[in-house]
Amino acid sequence: MQDLVIGIDVGGTKIAAGLIDRNARFIARDISHSHCCCPPDQVVDEAVKMVQRLLSSSAVDRSRILGVGVGISGHIDGDRGIVMTNSNLPDWDYYPLRDTLKARLGFPVMIDNDANCAAWGEYRHGAGRGSQNMCYVTFSTGCGMGIVINGSLYRGACGTAGEIGHTVVNPDGPICSCGKRGCLMSYACGMALDQMARDCLKTSEDTLLRSVCGDSPDKVTAEHVADAARQGDPVALRLLEQAGRYFGIGLSTIVQVLNPDTIVIGGGLVHIGPLLLDSCHKALNENIHHVLIDSARIVQSELWNDAGVIGAGALIWEAIQEGAVKPQIELTKGMVFDIQRYSLHDGPGLRTNVFLKGCNLSCQWCSNPESRSILPELAFFDKNCFLCGDCIPVCAAGGIQMKGGRLNWDRSKCNQCFDCVGTCTSHAFSIIGKSMTAGEVVAEVLRDSAFYGGQGGLTLTGGEPALQPEFAEAVLSLAKVEGLHTAIETCGAVPWKNLVRLLPYLDLALFDLKHIDAETHRRFTGKDNKGILENLTRVAQSDVDLIVRVPLIPGFNADDTSLEAMAVFVKTLKRVKEVHVLGFHTLGKAKYNAIGVSYAFENQPPMQMDETEKWADVFRREGFNVVVSG
Ligand SMILES: [Zn+2]
Repeated sequence: MQDLVIGIDVGGTKIAAGLIDRNARFIARDISHSHCCCPPDQVVDEAVKMVQRLLSSSAVDRSRILGVGVGISGHIDGDRGIVMTNSNLPDWDYYPLRDTLKARLGFPVMIDNDANCAAWGEYRHGAGRGSQNMCYVTFSTGCGMGIVINGSLYRGACGTAGEIGHTVVNPDGPICSCGKRGCLMSYACGMALDQMARDCLKTSEDTLLRSVCGDSPDKVTAEHVADAARQGDPVALRLLEQAGRYFGIGLSTIVQVLNPDTIVIGGGLVHIGPLLLDSCHKALNENIHHVLIDSARIVQSELWNDAGVIGAGALIWEAIQEGAVKPQIELTKGMVFDIQRYSLHDGPGLRTNVFLKGCNLSCQWCSNPESRSILPELAFFDKNCFLCGDCIPVCAAGGIQMKGGRLNWDRSKCNQCFDCVGTCTSHAFSIIGKSMTAGEVVAEVLRDSAFYGGQGGLTLTGGEPALQPEFAEAVLSLAKVEGLHTAIETCGAVPWKNLVRLLPYLDLALFDLKHIDAETHRRFTGKDNKGILENLTRVAQSDVDLIVRVPLIPGFNADDTSLEAMAVFVKTLKRVKEVHVLGFHTLGKAKYNAIGVSYAFENQPPMQMDETEKWADVFRREGFNVVVSG
C-alpha cells in the first residue's frame, strides 16, 4: 500500500527531511548540515542519502512511498521542476532539481519554494487550518512569504509571488543581498539584526552586547541581541523595536494588498516574543486603513521548524491524489503482448486477461510460443498477406523474398528492426509485445468493469507474469485499489521472491502442474520441476485461493501413472479449491509458423472430450472438484 510521503526542506543553514503519513505524522526524521548555499550536486547527494536513511531507520519498504516533495529557497519554477536562482551560487541557475532527484530516487518528485511549502504546511496541518485566504510570513534568518488564496497556493506568473523580503521600504536604506537598497530584509530578519547590532558596536554606545562579543563585533548575532534585551539593555531593546516595527510595516502591506483572513508568523525570531512583536503589532495597525484593523487574525506558527517538511510532503501527496503528478507505480513499465476481453475460463465471472511476455519454460505444446521471449518480436501471419511486396526492399537484412507466388520470410536473417511492419498495410507483419505502463493496463481493464458484475475481474497471464514482478505487482495493486477481483496464471517457474510479492494483491492463483517426475518435466519443458513444486506448496499455504491446472499432453502426462502421481501430490496441498484439466489442443499452431518456430505436435490431433473426461476422473477419484475445459 502506498500511504507515505517524504518531505524535504532545503533551508539556509540545514536540510530537514521527514517520512510522513497523510495526517502529517512523522514516521522518521533526518537532518543534514548541508544547505541551499552548497553546490547543487552536494545538495542532491545529501537528499538521496537522507531518503535512504529515512527508509532504513524506519524499516519502511520503498513501495509504500508515493513521492517526494522538496521545498527550497529561491525562485522556483515548479511546473518545469527547475530552480531559477537560489543563493548566490551560479551553479544553481536553471538547475533541473526535480528530474535530477527523480532519476536518483526513483520516486515522483515535485519542488516548490520553501516559504510556499511552509505556508501549505500551516494551512493544511497547522495554525492556518480553517482559513480561506492565508499568508505565512517567516521572520528568521531571512524573510519570506507563502500565499494561499481561496484554498490554493498562489505562485504568481513566474512562480515568485510572496517575495515580501525584497519589497523596498526605504530607497535610501542599506544595500540588500539582491542588490537593491532598503529591502524589508535589510531591517526585519535575523541577518539584518546581526548587521544592525554590529553597526552599533562600531559606535561608542554603552551596551551589554559589547561584553558578549569580546572585542569582535562580527560575533554578535540576533540571539545575543535578544539576550541583552531581556536584561534590559536599551540598545538591544531599540534594535528589536526597530526590527519589529519594520516587520509590522511588511505585514501592513500584506493586509492592504491581499486582505487575508489569517497571517501566520513563523521563524526563529518570533520566539523572542513581545520585545519584538509588540512594536510589530503597533506598526501594523498604524500603517493600515482603519477599516482593516483587526481584519486579519495574526497567529504564531504551530508547526515551526516542521512546517516546510510537512508542507512539502502535503504538496506531493495532494498532487498525486489529484492526478497532477503520477505516482511511480502507475508508471512502472512492462512488456505486454495481448489484452483479451470477455474470457470465461481464467477465473470467476467475466475476465479481462492481460498477457505478459517472457517465460522461463519452453513447453513443447505451449499455445503462446510468442510469449517466451521477454523482448518484442516480429511475427508474420501468412494468411493476412496480399502479396503487395512493399516490405521486400525495406528489409535491409534481405530476409523477405517472393518465392513461388508467396512471400517468404527468413527468420534467421531478421534483426528485429521492425521496419517491415511500418510498410505492411495488411498486418501480415506485426510486432508481438508492447511496452505499457501499469496505469495504461489498468485503464484498459477498467473499460470492461461494467461487465464484471461483482464477480469477474483481471487475470494476469502470459508468458509467465511473475517474470516481470515489479510490473505485475504494480498492475495488481492498482487493480486492487479499483476494487477488482484479481487472478494470476502461473507456471511457477520463477524464484519464490517474485511470486510472494504478488500474493498480497491476489484473490486467486491458477497454478500449472505439468508433471511430477523431474526428468520428464525437463525433457518437455526445458526445466526440472523442483522449484515449481516448492512454489506450489508455498502458495497453497498462503490465503490466496488456489486452482491447480493440468494440461493433458499426449506422450508426456496423459497416462494413468503420471496423472495419478500428480493427484497424490495435489492431495498433500492445503486449500486447493478446484483442479482444472485442459484437453490437448493445437490452437497455437499458426503462431509457431508466424514466428518461425517449429511445432513438436504438428501431427497430433486435438484431444476428444471423452478422453479429457477420462483423465479428469483420475482427479475426481481423489475427491477433487474438477473442471474440464477443451
Ligand atoms: Zn532585496
